[in-house]
Amino acid sequence: MRNLALALSLALSLGACSTAPSTEAPRLVAPILTSADALDTSTYARPQEARVTHVALDLELDFAGKAVRGTAMLDVLAQPGARQIVLDSDGLQIESITDTAGNPLVWSMGEAAGEKGAPLSITLGDARQVVIRYAANPQASALQWLAPEQTAGKVHPFLFSQGQAILNRSWIPTQDSPGIRQTWKARVVAPKPLDVVMSGILQGKPEELAGGKRAFRFAMDKPVAPYLIAIAAGDIDFRAIGPRTGVWAEPAMLDKAHAEVVETEAMVEAAESLYGPYRWGRYDMIVLPPAFPYGGMENPVMTFLTPTFIAGDRSLTGLVAHELAHSWSGNLVTNAVWGDGWLNEGVTSYFENRIVEEIYGAKRARQEVALDTMAIMETLAEVGVDAPGTALHQPDGTESAGSAIIYNKGAAFLRTLEQDVGRERFDAWLRQWFDKHAFQPATSAMIYEDLKANLAGSEDEAARLRLREWIYGPGLPANFAQPDPAAFAAIDAANAAYAASGDLPQGWRAWTSAERQRFLQNVPAERTAGELARLDETLGLSTTGNNEELFLWLRLALANRYEPAVPQAERFLSNVGRTKFVRPLFATLMGEGEWGQPIARRIYGQTRASYHTVTQRAVDRIVRAD
Ligand SMILES: [Zn+2]
Repeated sequence: MRNLALALSLALSLGACSTAPSTEAPRLVAPILTSADALDTSTYARPQEARVTHVALDLELDFAGKAVRGTAMLDVLAQPGARQIVLDSDGLQIESITDTAGNPLVWSMGEAAGEKGAPLSITLGDARQVVIRYAANPQASALQWLAPEQTAGKVHPFLFSQGQAILNRSWIPTQDSPGIRQTWKARVVAPKPLDVVMSGILQGKPEELAGGKRAFRFAMDKPVAPYLIAIAAGDIDFRAIGPRTGVWAEPAMLDKAHAEVVETEAMVEAAESLYGPYRWGRYDMIVLPPAFPYGGMENPVMTFLTPTFIAGDRSLTGLVAHELAHSWSGNLVTNAVWGDGWLNEGVTSYFENRIVEEIYGAKRARQEVALDTMAIMETLAEVGVDAPGTALHQPDGTESAGSAIIYNKGAAFLRTLEQDVGRERFDAWLRQWFDKHAFQPATSAMIYEDLKANLAGSEDEAARLRLREWIYGPGLPANFAQPDPAAFAAIDAANAAYAASGDLPQGWRAWTSAERQRFLQNVPAERTAGELARLDETLGLSTTGNNEELFLWLRLALANRYEPAVPQAERFLSNVGRTKFVRPLFATLMGEGEWGQPIARRIYGQTRASYHTVTQRAVDRIVRAD
């Protein structure tokens, strides 16, 4: 903790040299961490020499050309003697770089290295603000331009961005590292009648411009990691939920979307009562077209959501609780490097479950914990309990064994601590962690030291709680708090009955979605066509409106080469771009040899162009590996 405290005070003193432009209120400058474990190798930036503190975007959206054009003005905080600032760029077309008086600055674009992109180095001279005139091209990996037919309304095009982890450098020239927080503002011009939303607060009414255009202004006055700058534009409407909450969606989706997220204001209140004030002002959401590659993305003040969580019965709204929880873990306290992604996702998954418990009760919360535990066990069975990828902290250059580790094992760690020391002590600890590191980056070493000092209180107690083993070791430590064995007792009995005698459950429709998912996950892997037909007919699987259940059905059916499921899967894969569903379905097909591989290649040939880069990259590895 000592050297980290030193690093923090150094960083704070860096921040203290900041000079804000005289016309505006002083801007908040967040510290950067200088310890070795906070060194982000996925950026070219050298923030200890010169760093970006504020980004001002002035952009126009060109839907016909699938391009974003305009300027980014960056405020730079440079150490005495620093000659250059280095930014990240992935395919940006730079037209000019000047100081604010319009004097050209010398710049160069280095060689590109895959997804990391290329370093954009600018010689600063005396300039402490630089103006970059640029365009982001149609291949920009963060942006997805949807044709009207990919929307619910089918009339207007749609645009959304996905910045995490290192994609925003394809449309914003800045230092794209989670440890280099920046305030930002934007003016965005879009053709009517499209509305624009961003992960900042809308400033006033849009300004009417000539040529059927409007300009929207946004501001984020709190320093955020730049992967959290996000934009969406389309034919969308807004409906309020509570005084500070609301939802955007295409008009055809708005009723359904609103009904599904109507508990959001109550969720914000529940979250605040657990871990302190919501510090971002508004909490709005946008339900995007189904091409969105993730379940949700926690863009500040504007969570982005897939429509595939809409089940009509709010059974999959743990997703909303999750994205909301990121307003603390992830957005407020952020992993300084992606190898500590569990600080964002594990803490959030734990917090999500606490919100679910508050809103929907202990039974649903316990069942969701049991489902998450199954996912951990599956990963450990697949890669081995000693695999280094199953540690929460991943050293630079290594990869985690997947989301079950950083999300579910991370949550299991905190749940284990909570059950050991009691809720009151645990909650007080987590709240002070958020308070102490608000709007700052953090590392595994920092949370370890904080847990040791403020929860355990001694080396011995830290050892008894196995803190180090949880964070740095593989597998599940011996003190892992098992999920409630009774959570699915009735369902597991139904699975046993089905496996033994083929009897299908009677109460299926009254079950919770978690119960139905549990049953489907535990159906014997090998099923005949006749057995699958009876499952589908009796339980209505292929016609369910619940996409988690539909996905489990399709995966089971395809793994058994069940022909009637092929057109169902094709429809699903043509419509939905969510990586969580799309990648495993293609992997299942590719695993089915000469039956499945031609089907996978045929479908992917038709659907690839409709997926976001994130999903394309994930599926390319599976389907193109031939
Ligand atoms: Zn998350």
